[in-house]
Amino acid sequence: MKTSRVAVIGGGIGGLTAAGLLAKEGHAVTLFEGGPSLGGKAQAVTVEGLTLDTGPTLLTLPALVRGTFEKLDALDLLPPFTELEPQCTYRFTDGCDFTAYKDLERMADSAAELRPSERKGVHTFYAEAAAIWRAAGEPYLEAPFEGMPGFMARVARRGIGAMLAGMQMDTLHALAAKHFQTQHLRQYVGRFATYAGGSPYASSAAFALIPHIEHAYGVHHVKSGIGALVAALGQAVRRLGVTVHLDTRARFERTSEGYRVGPGSELFDSVVVNADPLASLRREGEPLSLSGFVLLLEVEGRPSLPHHTVLFGGDYRREFDELFAGQLATDPTVYFCNPSATDPSMAPLGRTGLFVMVNAPAMPVGASQAEQAERDWEAMAERVRTQMFDKLFHHYPGLKGKTRVVGQRTPVDLAARGAPGGSIYGFLPHGRFGPFRRPRIRGGTPGLFFAGGGTHPGGGVPLVMLSGRFAAEMASAHLRGSA
Ligand SMILES: Cc1cc2nc3c(=O)[nH]c(=O)nc-3n(C[C@H](O)[C@H](O)[C@H](O)COP(=O)(O)OP(=O)(O)OC[C@H]3O[C@@H](n4cnc5c(N)ncnc54)[C@H](O)[C@@H]3O)c2cc1C
Repeated sequence: MKTSRVAVIGGGIGGLTAAGLLAKEGHAVTLFEGGPSLGGKAQAVTVEGLTLDTGPTLLTLPALVRGTFEKLDALDLLPPFTELEPQCTYRFTDGCDFTAYKDLERMADSAAELRPSERKGVHTFYAEAAAIWRAAGEPYLEAPFEGMPGFMARVARRGIGAMLAGMQMDTLHALAAKHFQTQHLRQYVGRFATYAGGSPYASSAAFALIPHIEHAYGVHHVKSGIGALVAALGQAVRRLGVTVHLDTRARFERTSEGYRVGPGSELFDSVVVNADPLASLRREGEPLSLSGFVLLLEVEGRPSLPHHTVLFGGDYRREFDELFAGQLATDPTVYFCNPSATDPSMAPLGRTGLFVMVNAPAMPVGASQAEQAERDWEAMAERVRTQMFDKLFHHYPGLKGKTRVVGQRTPVDLAARGAPGGSIYGFLPHGRFGPFRRPRIRGGTPGLFFAGGGTHPGGGVPLVMLSGRFAAEMASAHLRGSA
């Protein structure tokens, strides 16, 4: 059989996964990455011995990630995972705390400290979140989304209960308000909308499947950080024979002979685009999901801080209203990750590295607006840094005078890596049917496929791996058909 030539445009996690699987199938795969390193948004830095991820810090669905490495014949390269318990600490402006545990009883105990009636809320919320996962989540992740009829057939196979659960869905905030009486736990649930870059007040209750996933499958840390996972994936892909061109931005053009790709206009039989699909599909006008601003800090000593912490802002609705109006939040929610809490390989003895992040609005797309946004961010970064430190020191006054900024990432940096407007997840899945309007993996022309956070099923490390797997399967089927 003739060897088919496949181009993969983009070396993010979705592109790497697709490239490796297609090479394993025997295709001649060339990957074009516009940046100087593989991994896309999942980058890491080492500063004087401190290792800090600059993108993802938290891993869910570990079996999906392990399964992907297994398919790539690369289990020997996979770094070990540690399951975190507790999973995350949440602190509120009124001084209250809530701790999420995998163990539902311990989580219910923590909720009951906020208000005794919230104990029951934890149980009823997680029962409904599990039903949503079965009704909508599993059928959504089971196969590439190719239209409502196929999806509904997968839902129907789960029975009438699943169909009814799917039909009743409101917003994530409304679901939280149904189960919880305190603002604290409504904020806790609402925050999961930001895992897709959305607002809890406009995202479907279907996103409750994310807290279910964390509860059912755990929150994990990759030893030595996500950067180590990306390095392993890159090594696996090269070992399978993929030709990798770094610092090579590529465009594709369909001709009668196939696809012309890359600076050399080489001919390929199929293309997997890991760059955000909105531009290729001429859907640039679509509203974008949120961006983010990241500070990388070095702290003297080893302060006793949890691995994952969220410091909520005081008015969550206002925070999202401001962000989706294109402004910085007046009182932003700050997330920080302290990986050396559970992984000493991340920091030398006596020092601590912190990844600190706030949501930020996506920037307007377009050359002149982007230039203006870049100038704006030079001034805005100072303001956000101050807000972040104020919140951090308010909750942890002992850190004052002991922290040093060792790096930062603004939406401009994300945009420079091809993310439209610096948006982390691209397409904004607001509305009840939002997730179904996401760009599909199958592109508009034969042999063209998308993989990555901007396409089905969405962003986050495991899901982009899944989209890479789907894209590789679909490209292989196409190439078999055309051979
Ligand atoms: C700050 C931050 C925190 C995050 N936190 C988490 C988390 O805790 N857990 C989690 O699971 N996920 C998290 N994510 C999301 C996760 O990082 C992404 O969903 C995922 O890494 C995206 O992978 P991707 O396959 O879509 O590729 P991307 O990372 O989007 O990479 C695409 C690649 O394509 C390249 N490219 C674009 N255009 C071209 C072109 N024309 N030619 C050649 N190359 C091109 C780019 O340079 C880039 O390398 C976070 C992301 C960020 C930024």
